[in-house]
Amino acid sequence: MTPEARMEVGLPRDPSGFVRRQCPHCQRTFKTLPSPFDARVLQRRLASIFPFENVDEGFEPVPSWHCLYCGHHADGDEWLARDHCDYLEALARGWANHVRYEQLSHVSRTLSQNPRPTFVAVAPDALPEGPGADPEDLRLVPMVCCGEDVKSQWDWDGPFYCPRCGTRHGEPHGRHQMQLEFIQE
Ligand SMILES: [Zn+2]
Ligand SMILES: [Zn+2]
Repeated sequence: MTPEARMEVGLPRDPSGFVRRQCPHCQRTFKTLPSPFDARVLQRRLASIFPFENVDEGFEPVPSWHCLYCGHHADGDEWLARDHCDYLEALARGWANHVRYEQLSHVSRTLSQNPRPTFVAVAPDALPEGPGADPEDLRLVPMVCCGEDVKSQWDWDGPFYCPRCGTRHGEPHGRHQMQLEFIQE
């Protein structure tokens, strides 16, 4: 692969099309539908690790989000899941190696008349594979405030905060209240 080659990078989706996010505060994961700003977040994360010449590094704003569980409010750039970040870092490092290899190969090609070459460019490893499809592992929670579905961990029985607008929604099933009523009867 040459540095001119196209590199397509995206966040993996689960079978119903949702993308995993991770709260930078409580570290819990939830899922939302893909955001039109995901590409910009990925670009920016990659560019922060390896300065791609063709990436616009402008700081165009990305909407901020709220954590579904703890309500933490943070910039849209901060919700990448940890394994997504690991993949992006490996990808940026691999890409940098490919670029360096091309540059070194170019130098050794143009210095082919040199009777005593001082180095040999070593071919880099292939770029890392993406994280693959995400499993269908969370439960669907409708956010009535914004008319969007999100996905929550199964064992969460606290209130929910809408990731988009931050509205707090009460206990998901009124489970505690129901248990109390049964005891009193
Ligand atoms: Zn959180
Ligand atoms: Zn909302």
